[in-house]
Amino acid sequence: MSDDDNLFDWETRVRATDPWTSKAAAKKAMRSVTDKHRKVLEVHRAHLKGLTDWELEEICKDHGATYRTRRQELTNPEWFDPPYIVDSGRTKQNRESQHPDNERVVWILREYLDPTLRTPLEPSPPPPPPPTNAHYDKDGHFIHDHCAVCGAPASFGVGVSLLKGELGMWYCREHWPGNGTT
Ligand SMILES: [Zn+2]
Repeated sequence: MSDDDNLFDWETRVRATDPWTSKAAAKKAMRSVTDKHRKVLEVHRAHLKGLTDWELEEICKDHGATYRTRRQELTNPEWFDPPYIVDSGRTKQNRESQHPDNERVVWILREYLDPTLRTPLEPSPPPPPPPTNAHYDKDGHFIHDHCAVCGAPASFGVGVSLLKGELGMWYCREHWPGNGTT
């Protein structure tokens, strides 16, 4: 039993919280998935950007109607609702067909098209800068002139990495966490 088997289980096609009526509707629209359907889905699963029917047939080594028709059934909501395979919105020229100028629809697995089913690629926001009680004055001098605890002149820094823009927290000798008395 592989993960792929879940793809063919109508129970996974409706949310568990859906009322029984939508489950019934989903079941009604769920025709049997044949070995030929599985083959088409397998080929499409290996092609994230989708395939024209001609490309599908080329991979299946059969330019008869068999695989094209199975793809049509997998696209048809009367057969499978929601359909497994959908129109990608893109077309591609059939370079090696008998009609090389014809633009063919690129079909794609619904799960590859639906952006809500994809992992977002947005970069994570930068972490907030670490706290500091130091600063640069207007002349660019690094100023750490008072202890974070008592305000006395501060000569001892913690978490200072100026090359990384981390100015650190600064303390007098008495309050410096590094001296072991705090
Ligand atoms: Zn202090």
